[in-house]
Amino acid sequence: MEKFKVIVAEKMDDCGIELLKENCDVTLAIDKSREELLSVIHEYDALIVRSVTKVDAELMDKGTNLKIVGRAGNGIDNIVVPEATKRGIIVCNTPESNTISAGELAIGLMLDGCRDISYADKHLKEGNWNRNNFEGTELFNKTLGIIGLGRIGSIVATRMKAFGMNLIAYDPYIPDSRFERFGCKKVSLDELVEQADIITLHTPKTVETTKMISDSQIEKMKKGVRLVNAARGGLIDEEAAYRGLKSGKIASLGLDVHESEPRKTSPLYEFENVTVTPHIGANTVDAQKNVGKVVAEQVIAGLKGEVVSTAVNLPAINLEELKTIKPFIDLSEKLGKFYFQMEKEKIQKVEISYWGNITKYDTGLVGLSFLKGLLTPIQDSQVNYINAKVITENLGIGFIENSCSDSYNNFSSLIKIKITKNNGEKFTLSGTLAANGEGRIVELNGFEIDVTPYNHILYIKNEDVPGVIGIVGTLVGEAKINVATMHVGRKVKGDKAIMLLNIDNSLSNETLDRFQNNKDIICAQVISL
Ligand code: NAD
Repeated sequence: MEKFKVIVAEKMDDCGIELLKENCDVTLAIDKSREELLSVIHEYDALIVRSVTKVDAELMDKGTNLKIVGRAGNGIDNIVVPEATKRGIIVCNTPESNTISAGELAIGLMLDGCRDISYADKHLKEGNWNRNNFEGTELFNKTLGIIGLGRIGSIVATRMKAFGMNLIAYDPYIPDSRFERFGCKKVSLDELVEQADIITLHTPKTVETTKMISDSQIEKMKKGVRLVNAARGGLIDEEAAYRGLKSGKIASLGLDVHESEPRKTSPLYEFENVTVTPHIGANTVDAQKNVGKVVAEQVIAGLKGEVVSTAVNLPAINLEELKTIKPFIDLSEKLGKFYFQMEKEKIQKVEISYWGNITKYDTGLVGLSFLKGLLTPIQDSQVNYINAKVITENLGIGFIENSCSDSYNNFSSLIKIKITKNNGEKFTLSGTLAANGEGRIVELNGFEIDVTPYNHILYIKNEDVPGVIGIVGTLVGEAKINVATMHVGRKVKGDKAIMLLNIDNSLSNETLDRFQNNKDIICAQVISL
């Protein structure tokens, strides 16, 4: 890999730095002022920040080589993402790095609430030994209500299942299969608050979720309900919680996040059955290591032109879905590489149609990957998943994507490309995945073929007459090039035919000229993938 230059502007874990150093030239600029950063940023391909460095239009204008900005952490308030997108700069973060830590803290608060651990600790350290003060409850056989069954909610679900809890969850934005997968009964918010013995919140803070636990919800809860919020401050109305605690309706409350932060005093702190922590959900050695490792991995992937799964200015895709869709992403990029290696005519429009099973997934990256493959041979600068669309638009190329869940010609999934050239002619190409997950090209300009897209493909268009295969074999042999596979296709007997040969090395122009000089060969080209 070309040695890319990375500047790290804020503190990150050593394991991430080490990983970066294995792949790139790394400059640690932890104490640099903004002015200093502005004066050197043009030298770097990647910038890594936490929450302090302002990555705005001014910095990005100066960072003329910047390809990716990595945020070691979650929130991206300090990065002006639309400005990055405009410039084709990938912005990525590490959203999953602290999910286990946050989930485990929520579970800690739950256990603390049920067994008065913090209160008992305080009680004893103050010189008391009154065991009768403490009568907790078990988690076993109790109903846990999870609000928000995303990354952290599901981590809590899997772990609390092991405690023998009955799980119910409310999340209106996920498919039913997710409830099944995490062993949660899908319920409405009203049902959840009515049935749960313990309620834990794991949603983002939105207009809908702000104070979603209010007086009216608390009123519907079981007497002795226990509440935990380690998501975002203000999901529980703190004044309503105060009233619930005062009346005895709420048996315990655990908060890692607060309506306003830092929050050193609160009327809630008068209750012994309230446990509070100063927003420490992500504060574990492991989470910080993860953050460093993941941001480094993502930045390296971005610099190599690979998929950056945590990019925030790309179609969102989760890691599981990425595993399924990745072979299609790879195939699509290879399909993209064909056109400009075979044709010189400008493009008017690109149309990609997705058929069959592939349409169950988000195909956004598949389309971008095609454009990346298409444009790479004709662009000086690096084409990536972010700037591919912008470059396509700048070239005046129309881009349309269609989906149809039906299968096409018995292919369980098919990516069908139709390129309209400026002269109105069409170029078509289709690819699928074989049963073993390998990409296959199954159609080229209306000819049915079956070719594995790897290394170099020799494409021959010829008259459908006897003897051409022998001539091609001889010429490739004389060029001392090994042929791995060979496929022939024709539409009508005796008309035109095509041949595609997987060859181990590319061919020189002289050899290609020898093909072209044969009267039965219409054209011969090598497509390198
Ligand atoms: P996520 O995006 O993976 O999951 C959030 C879930 O909430 C999604 O499934 C979404 O559909 C659901 N949701 C959205 N609106 C909803 C609504 N109105 N009602 C019910 N469900 C709704 O997020 P995550 O990574 O699991 O994080 C959850 C929360 O935890 C976030 O607010 C995050 O900021 C917070 N967090 C806190 C800490 C901490 O230090 N305490 C650390 C990490 C994350």
